[in-house]
Amino acid sequence: MTDNAVQTINLSKIYASVNGASPKPALDKISLNIPRGSFFGLLGPNGAGKSTLINILAGLVIPTSGEARIWDYDIETDMRAARRSIGIVPQELNVDPFFTPRESLELQAGLYGVPASARRSDEILEAVGLLDKADAYARTLSGGMRRRMLVAKAMVHSPPVLVLDEPTAGVDVNLRRQLWSYVRHLNEQGTTVLLTTHYLEEAEQLCDTIAIIDHGKLITCEATESLLRKLDAKEMTVTVSEDLSFIPETLKHFNVELKSNQRLRICYPPSKTNSGEILGAIAEAGLSVTDLVTKEAELEDIFLSLTSTSDGR
Ligand code: ADP
Ligand code: MG
Repeated sequence: MTDNAVQTINLSKIYASVNGASPKPALDKISLNIPRGSFFGLLGPNGAGKSTLINILAGLVIPTSGEARIWDYDIETDMRAARRSIGIVPQELNVDPFFTPRESLELQAGLYGVPASARRSDEILEAVGLLDKADAYARTLSGGMRRRMLVAKAMVHSPPVLVLDEPTAGVDVNLRRQLWSYVRHLNEQGTTVLLTTHYLEEAEQLCDTIAIIDHGKLITCEATESLLRKLDAKEMTVTVSEDLSFIPETLKHFNVELKSNQRLRICYPPSKTNSGEILGAIAEAGLSVTDLVTKEAELEDIFLSLTSTSDGR
């Protein structure tokens, strides 16, 4: 037995070519260890291969080569045990319109052979905030409710690993918070969570470890904190009431760009420069700030900085 909830070894997928063009791998020799108990983020832009990886774990896509194990069960040779160990919330909102949430959960429990005495449909519905909709038809549920319905379905067999594939698409802020608080709770209770997203901020807030993939290749996999330390870049845009035609002397030792005659953009490494120093320099130049926006490094910038050093692409 290992300490891994999920392990992939040189996992590759090449989809059959549709128009005769030579096919590019959607996944290219991905080797990943997802420790038991972790809240793991798989981050990458659209088309990176995240859903392909998830769908391989779900048994919906057959890998071209390589291996994958879930809770130490090989997805090929120990398929049934591997399936039982994982609950997957797919990216698409495919909810059966003819069942009520309660019926859907009971049906799902039946599919997984969960005995009636061990079923906890109402508990799960309550946790995802759908208990009051337990007997409503699924087609009457909003997008956010459907998403939570899929989370509920993924949990009926109490799998040790929960996978959420871009779960916040179409979910409003309140429901997102509710969804995260439930998923966090599951993680605290011991469920390993694998979340895919193309939002760095989301991964940053939730995940203890982040893997980044792009064009099917693994770019990095490390503790969120150490990744963020590497991405030591922030951006501050300041609007002032005075008209500027040049960059004031007191700001010259920062990386400053004049965006318009009242707007300055300053890029800085937060570990070395704090925003107060910059604001101090602005005040010293006799400028008064009317608006201020700070921004973390964007995922795209991170890809650029990480990929340019690895394979020169
Ligand atoms: P992500 O989930 O990160 O957005 P996907 O895994 O969906 O990425 O897609 C990775 C690549 O594989 C993309 O180039 C996509 O067009 C291609 N792809 C995904 N599914 C299929 C499929 N069923 N047939 C052919 N190509 C596919
Ligand atoms: Mg996807």
